[in-house]
Amino acid sequence: MPDLEDEQIVQAIASAPSGTVRSVLRALCADEETKLCIGRFLSQLPLTYEEWDQSRQASSSSASRKRKTAPQIEICVQCESPFEKGDESLTCRHHPCEFHVFPTYDMEVDFDSDFWADWDVEIDDTPCCRETNPDGFTFPRCGETGSSVDEGCTMGKHRAADGKRGK
Ligand SMILES: [Zn+2]
Ligand SMILES: [Zn+2]
Repeated sequence: MPDLEDEQIVQAIASAPSGTVRSVLRALCADEETKLCIGRFLSQLPLTYEEWDQSRQASSSSASRKRKTAPQIEICVQCESPFEKGDESLTCRHHPCEFHVFPTYDMEVDFDSDFWADWDVEIDDTPCCRETNPDGFTFPRCGETGSSVDEGCTMGKHRAADGKRGK
């Protein structure tokens, strides 16, 4: 079978049986960087829809509605928070980015930052390093430091990965 590409991958994830998706996720753990991502996202997602509903009810007042179908929870590539598919509210705090991938991938090294003053090895410009040393990085569009990742500089809609390549 030929390899799937771009949006086909997103479609395949949506239609594949859960066992297949589990096998793929497990295989992806062979890559250290990807494994860290998977662990982070798994820990963010509620394990059950009941838990999701409860966490929503704690934060919103109009939460007493009964559901007919279980909501589909996605992870936003802009703010890395879980959100309900179809949620069009402007509640995503993020830094707009060029490449439409996770915020840590968009940061750039701030060589002028005092943060690196006592750094005597080469700066390791990887998503992992960006995440652990956010003060040494900035978001290219607004120039804010990486530690402002949660505050963002823009409010918008959450966005799930759509499989399209960055432009
Ligand atoms: Zn920004
Ligand atoms: Zn978001």
